[in-house]
Amino acid sequence: MPDTCRRVAESNPEIEAAKERISARATMAPISSRRSALAPPRFLLLAATANALLAPARVATAPRTAPLFSTKSLYDKTVERKAGQEKLKVAPELESPPVDSTPEAPKVNGGIVIGTRKLVVVTGASSGLGLYGALSLAKKGGYYVILACRNTERANRIAKEAGFPKNSYTVMKLELGSYKSVENFVYNLRAFKGPRPLDRLVCNAAVYLPADPKPRFTEDGFEMTMGVNHLSHFLLIQKLLKDLKGASDPRCIIVGSITGNSNTIAGGLVYPRADLGDLSGLKAGAGAEMADGGSFFGAKAYKDSKVCNMMTVQELHRRFHDETGITFSSLYPGCIAETGLFREKRGWFRTIFPVFMKYVTGGYVSEKEAGDRLAQVVDDAKCEKSGVYWSWNGNAQQVGLYDPAAKEVRGAGGSGGEIFENQYAPSTQDANTAKEMYDVSMQAVGL
Ligand code: NDP
Repeated sequence: MPDTCRRVAESNPEIEAAKERISARATMAPISSRRSALAPPRFLLLAATANALLAPARVATAPRTAPLFSTKSLYDKTVERKAGQEKLKVAPELESPPVDSTPEAPKVNGGIVIGTRKLVVVTGASSGLGLYGALSLAKKGGYYVILACRNTERANRIAKEAGFPKNSYTVMKLELGSYKSVENFVYNLRAFKGPRPLDRLVCNAAVYLPADPKPRFTEDGFEMTMGVNHLSHFLLIQKLLKDLKGASDPRCIIVGSITGNSNTIAGGLVYPRADLGDLSGLKAGAGAEMADGGSFFGAKAYKDSKVCNMMTVQELHRRFHDETGITFSSLYPGCIAETGLFREKRGWFRTIFPVFMKYVTGGYVSEKEAGDRLAQVVDDAKCEKSGVYWSWNGNAQQVGLYDPAAKEVRGAGGSGGEIFENQYAPSTQDANTAKEMYDVSMQAVGL
């Protein structure tokens, strides 16, 4: 498909996932007659609306140094619109900055500061889910949080404004576009915490680059989306396994997404699909544009990276849970339509998308609530079970799946609801691909 058409067909990954969930309904056990009767037209209506609303992604024709909006004006508008609500004054950056792996000098004596609290690392804690999750944990009182962020100055400013309790956190530099920075972070973390173990590791940071016509590459030569979202987190986990092992109930959490659920696509309606293919791109190593060896497609690269995230959790569980006692889990926090993840989308999209997700699909969840959900997976005794993909039975009206056991439609995402063990899509459950992907990732990170 020509590049232009491909980009016009491309839509937001979370919306595509919503469409997948709906299409899944058609393939599941019989649902109530009312819903059965309604499903196809609703599906078509939603798909049509979603496409009309979302399809024309911005093609990045302007130089990347020239944002479409000034951060200030978006910030002003956001503050005005959200006055009184839990919205921070520091708006997400509208352009992804270049990789900066300049090392940070280590901080020491953390052991004294941390005291008896559990030590948790959250990557990408300067925005969205990571920020609100870290804040939720810090406010609980029993956690000391390391905010592992690429821009420490900005992260410090945001943390201050967000109201983290005094002495509940430290910002440390982690640039996931560079293995050297991952190594530097691990070194600094150990210098800070001393011999004490690491209780929780939350791999949350991600980039979504749907408007890029050409791939960007990490410092080590890997396509940026795969490098940041999957490979650097993979390396971080490998390095920190032994630090987690020493904790009394260690947990390692990788934030997943329903965008990886490509098994339920009906008639090719959802595009692009996550597909790791024969992993030839990952196997080829540095310089490859996509995991499957194809040419770069930003929206697909995001979905592929999320599939790798969710496969990694399962493979880590199989390889290490019994031996180490570490709980490995993933979660889908709901559609957090206002986060910086959508920074490359046009201004109008960022305004309409939350409204659409709130009132049409019901899949919307606020950053605050999503953060509380992440904190629940970190903290709740219920979430000690390893290998699980957690979701919430919120009010995702249109994207819910019929649960034959509960005899009701249960949404994955949307505000409210209870936590439940979601099912991995078969495509992310394929143990052979997961094993191969894991082994290839070990090579890709130089282990
Ligand atoms: P945000 O863009 O708000 O947050 C992403 C975070 O990752 C930011 O802190 C960002 O830092 C950081 N980051 C990006 N690139 C790098 C890098 N190279 N090195 C280090 N840190 C980096 O997005 P969300 O909060 O929405 O996303 C968080 C997680 O939630 C992701 O894993 C995403 O896939 C997942 N998710 C999101 C959903 C949604 O609807 N938003 C739905 C389902 C899952 P900085 O502040 O410097 O830009």
